[in-house]
Amino acid sequence: MEEVVTNGLVLYSRAYKERDRLIKVYTEKFGKRQFFIKNAVNSKFVASLQAFTSAELVATINDSGFSFIQDISEVKHYQRILEDFEANAYASYIVSLADIAIEDGEYDAALYAFLIQILEMMNRGKDVKVLTNIFELQLLSRFGSGLNLSECVICARQDLPMDYSFAFNGCLCQDHFDRDSHRLHIEPNIIYLANQFLNISLETLESISVKDENKKQLRKFIDILYDEYVGIETNAKKFINSMDDWAGVLKDKK
Ligand SMILES: [Zn+2]
Repeated sequence: MEEVVTNGLVLYSRAYKERDRLIKVYTEKFGKRQFFIKNAVNSKFVASLQAFTSAELVATINDSGFSFIQDISEVKHYQRILEDFEANAYASYIVSLADIAIEDGEYDAALYAFLIQILEMMNRGKDVKVLTNIFELQLLSRFGSGLNLSECVICARQDLPMDYSFAFNGCLCQDHFDRDSHRLHIEPNIIYLANQFLNISLETLESISVKDENKKQLRKFIDILYDEYVGIETNAKKFINSMDDWAGVLKDKK
């Protein structure tokens, strides 16, 4: 067993047996790992290592069973995510997605960096719905569904209005809409927007703003994609849906 140093993001921290604790961390160098903390009340790490915290860890990483933390430094809490109800719900959701998208112990530094970048932008008060949509769309490749929304699967044209077809696992341009009567009938501007999100680098995101109506339609489109290609709805996602339902109820009362 060798000591290593790696950055990590705490996915969750939960009680284990009577006095111990398990902390799941997405580490930059070793993927997601479960760290065992014996006698949690006496541990100097447990209070610092809560969800939505990143830190540099000195640790012993074991390929089977638990890993162990020797020391932590550069602890950073995502304060706004911890305090803001909506940001917390959406951040919980993308963290839960990252957790199911790859196996524990699987090295994926690109996904780690992307997750950190999205959380930092959420923490800075950027639009959590837009950031979540971008994360979801780009994450589909980790579920084995590399999405291409930029061209028609039949003729490769990119300049015509498009719709999505599960029969072709891709887009049809309006000249080829007749190839699939069960195409999704998504508005072309939503396909266009989703394609932008799929290819956007977060640096250029600062300037993007999306109308509420388009956000709703995009939400619907991505839900359909996840139903078909992922098939798992996390509890965090169910919570977001119920939040939207409540928002609707409150608006109706006005
Ligand atoms: Zn076509």
